[in-house]
Amino acid sequence: MEEPLSLNDKPNESYDVIIVGAGPAGCACAYKLAGKGLKICIIEKDTFPRDKICGDALSPDVVNQLHRIDPKLGKQFQQMATRKAYHGIRFIAPNSKHLDIDFINPQFKDASGFVMKRLDFDHFMFNQISNFSDVNIFLNHKVEGLETSDDKVILKTGKKYFTAKIVIGADGANSIVNKKLTNNKVEKNHFSAGLRQYYENVTGFDDKGYIELHFYKDILPGYFWIFPLDNNQANIGLGMLSSEVSKRKINLRKRLADIIQNHPNVKHRFKDAKPLESVKGFGLPMGSKKRPCSGNRFLLIGDAASLIDPFSGEGIGMAIRSGRIAADHLLKGFETEKFDTKFNAQYDQKIYSKMWFELYFSHWLQKLLKYPKTFNLVINIARKSKSIQSLFTFILDNRDFKKSFLNPSFYFKRFSRKNNA
Ligand SMILES: Cc1cc2nc3c(=O)[nH]c(=O)nc-3n(C[C@H](O)[C@H](O)[C@H](O)COP(=O)(O)OP(=O)(O)OC[C@H]3O[C@@H](n4cnc5c(N)ncnc54)[C@H](O)[C@@H]3O)c2cc1C
Repeated sequence: MEEPLSLNDKPNESYDVIIVGAGPAGCACAYKLAGKGLKICIIEKDTFPRDKICGDALSPDVVNQLHRIDPKLGKQFQQMATRKAYHGIRFIAPNSKHLDIDFINPQFKDASGFVMKRLDFDHFMFNQISNFSDVNIFLNHKVEGLETSDDKVILKTGKKYFTAKIVIGADGANSIVNKKLTNNKVEKNHFSAGLRQYYENVTGFDDKGYIELHFYKDILPGYFWIFPLDNNQANIGLGMLSSEVSKRKINLRKRLADIIQNHPNVKHRFKDAKPLESVKGFGLPMGSKKRPCSGNRFLLIGDAASLIDPFSGEGIGMAIRSGRIAADHLLKGFETEKFDTKFNAQYDQKIYSKMWFELYFSHWLQKLLKYPKTFNLVINIARKSKSIQSLFTFILDNRDFKKSFLNPSFYFKRFSRKNNA
């Protein structure tokens, strides 16, 4: 029987802020809070380096967010050797026609995203925070219980009791902070199932190293991906909305194997390929619905706050971005010692004012995937129109597109060009 948690228990450790989880969200938040006079603690159930089941695609926004947290952090990342640059995305429509969208981000010289194993990326992020003297790290500590009161938060791991003024839930898709402190529930319409398998010797990549999203009819609304990695390896996977998996009783593992072995577009590319692991699965909490992501003495960030892009399945950029926004909010809270529900509601407002437009737009695109013919049509039209391609580039490459989207001159510039073939 689990020992009941009591606010009267004597904590072994006392902090200003406790961050549960040292993934990209937790590390980004700790990085932004470090050096500001707070006593910070990160509690992580694993140790580093550790794997995280993922497609490993770091969008241009990830690079952008690292620079925004600290240009030094962005630079450190640019020096990492274990990453493979990609310069765009190849979309393969249900009718097998493909559309290539190139990234052109003038802010960064290599103008691209990267594919990098989470084993390496998360280790990189963790290393960045492990030297800060005001960030106390507890690895191999799984948070098993937590409670809040008017004046504190108390947490229990298998080994210790901790207390803090505020807790940040950065503990991913199965967040205990979310489970214990909110009424948010998993809703299958807003949650996806994902599979990943590393391979070597997959062939047929384009020279530009595009990451490939294959939208085949019987896996819509979802997609099969092939992302090229370093060392002749690739990250292969399949993701699909959980409500559809349940409704159509789809066995995702069988579907993945079936595509690799039998789909005419890809089977020849796997002729000499070798799987490097068994198929692994994990959940993706999608940001297609607004949910409370704070309350009395707590904030949720990253997957714990359900912020994954519903169309692309990307969540690393959102995780880092929400970690940064949470840190800014916290620093304001510490100025006036405010950690209550009303004050923290400002964090929810900030998150959704920054992210809702793009999440909503992606949800709309995800819905389009239910109609393969419409999707084929969009791809066919886009293949012929440089203006539409440049619009897609802008959307996929630039996360701050809200302002531009609401500005009529943005459309005028794009669609009045002569190259609108
Ligand atoms: C199959 C799949 C493919 C994906 N592909 C991509 C992709 O290509 N690109 C992309 O951008 N996103 C992708 N995502 C989404 C991405 O993985 C997440 O959005 C991202 O990892 C969120 O970061 P996070 O820091 O919020 O959570 P996580 O990375 O999950 O980190 C949470 C941390 O909390 C720790 N933790 C959990 N519970 C506890 C506890 N009780 N006590 C202490 N510590 C705890 C965990 O060990 C972990 O280290 C994919 C997801 C899946 C499942």
